[in-house]
Amino acid sequence: MNAMLLREITSLKDNPTPLSFEETEGPALDEGEVLLRVTRCGVCHTELDEIEGRTPPPRLPVVLGHQVVGRIMESDSLLSETQKHTLAGTRASGIHTGQRVGVAWIASACGKCHHCLAGNENLCSDFKATGRDVDGGYAEYMKARAEFVHPIPESLSDSEAAPLLCAGAIGYRSLRLSNLQDGQNLGLMGFGGSNHLVLKMAKHKFPNAKVFVFSRNKSEQEFALSLGADWAGGIDQNPLSALDAVIDTTPVWGPVSEALKRLGPGGRLVVNAIRKEETDKDVLLKLDYPSQLWMEKEIKSVANVTRADVREFLQLAAEANIKPEFQEYDLKDANTALLEMKQGKIRGAKVLVV
Ligand SMILES: [Zn+2]
Ligand SMILES: [Zn+2]
Repeated sequence: MNAMLLREITSLKDNPTPLSFEETEGPALDEGEVLLRVTRCGVCHTELDEIEGRTPPPRLPVVLGHQVVGRIMESDSLLSETQKHTLAGTRASGIHTGQRVGVAWIASACGKCHHCLAGNENLCSDFKATGRDVDGGYAEYMKARAEFVHPIPESLSDSEAAPLLCAGAIGYRSLRLSNLQDGQNLGLMGFGGSNHLVLKMAKHKFPNAKVFVFSRNKSEQEFALSLGADWAGGIDQNPLSALDAVIDTTPVWGPVSEALKRLGPGGRLVVNAIRKEETDKDVLLKLDYPSQLWMEKEIKSVANVTRADVREFLQLAAEANIKPEFQEYDLKDANTALLEMKQGKIRGAKVLVV
């Protein structure tokens, strides 16, 4: 099969084409796994963190990509007897051959530890991530654990569904963790793949909430206003309203400092980023306790997603007609998509057509 492979940890600055388009052997299935013919794979900022070593894959080469839409393979000729048996077994759990499903960042978790048992499988110490710990969807085929694939609602096309699987699901978790109530003020720092969906979700779930969008990028500010934001401006601009919750999706520290200044008493900042870059970390040394932390302000990160986040969000997206803005790229142009993401040329989500 054809796949885009990451063979070494590098920086996009030194190497603008970190992935190579190669012919590889298809995945070999183990018990309980299904084979997918991939049709679309979303491109996520986390892929930059993987390539540049901020959350490095444990083995190389690896196929990146954790917003995968595909169809469960029907062709028995490609399956061994054990694999056919596995597929037959998974029909019982509502998954069948030919079905359109998605695979998200959560590839598996142990299912037995206290985090898993409490419904927080995203915090499991044995959490495995798609496209990092196991091969992902920048390829024609991939395998996945049958109980970790998610049926896609009919109203969503493949390209619409792909970005929802990460950006949407983690945005959903972020909004949940923000504790936002209807009528309150929500701030969004950064307006890429995830936060533009959070804006749509927040407007649907909390029709009386006001949403303030902070972005360094003028076209993102205009984009936010066109999607119904109540205010949009630069990260250092002040909308003159105290915010009850802020969701930060930027890779740097400046917005964290700015968000803390704008939170009102008891406000909560949710940082939706798997890693932060080191470049402007010194702003943290200048934190002003009275204005940025006093009055019970909180900072909380959001880590990974659970299967429930993915499924609840797909349901919500179908109900509320939440569809992402997206741009399509050919699989072999994945490097271009990643580079544009790194350079901040983001308008909505980026999707690879496989
Ligand atoms: Zn992602
Ligand atoms: Zn566990």
